[in-house]
Amino acid sequence: MCPAVGQIVSEVAPSDTARAKAMSVQEFHCHTGYPLAECQKDLLHLKSILTRYPIEALGHWTWVLVRSQDWKPISRTLRLNPDSPAFTALEPRETFLEEALFFHDQERIAELMKEWQQSMPKLLELAVSHELGHAFCAEPNEATADRLGEQLRKGLGPLCQVSSEARKKGVVAGGRHGLEPKNFQVTLR
Ligand SMILES: [Zn+2]
Repeated sequence: MCPAVGQIVSEVAPSDTARAKAMSVQEFHCHTGYPLAECQKDLLHLKSILTRYPIEALGHWTWVLVRSQDWKPISRTLRLNPDSPAFTALEPRETFLEEALFFHDQERIAELMKEWQQSMPKLLELAVSHELGHAFCAEPNEATADRLGEQLRKGLGPLCQVSSEARKKGVVAGGRHGLEPKNFQVTLR
């Protein structure tokens, strides 16, 4: 985990136009049961974070917010670490983020802050940049995604390493604390 979160320098032209265009090809959803007003507000928040990163290099990607009450059952079903509030499915190009990252559900927030030893704004930034590390580089490895996320937060990259192993289809990146990513088909929506 990187302590240097929150030092993001806002990007300047000529990337502005490219970034606005890149934002328009991002797809945003809230999973079943996510309250509409909260969904709209949280997606705006997510978009404001994404614009700090060079998503013009990303192409079409889908972002899904999931209620905290549904997060652990879904994580367990997918054999992911339920203490991790985000995961990415590389082949369908989808990233899932837990509601609590957007400052909802005090009980879960307390749990996440204890688990990750981070404030919630930092944890959200960390989660988004880490998942972008997976996404930009089709990178299933957790340690590499951490490193890529750190670079992204410093305004660098994406500095992908080409690895044939990293191009396996259907790999889910989201295992933390020693959990291995598992193969699965996304059927959440
Ligand atoms: Zn990961």
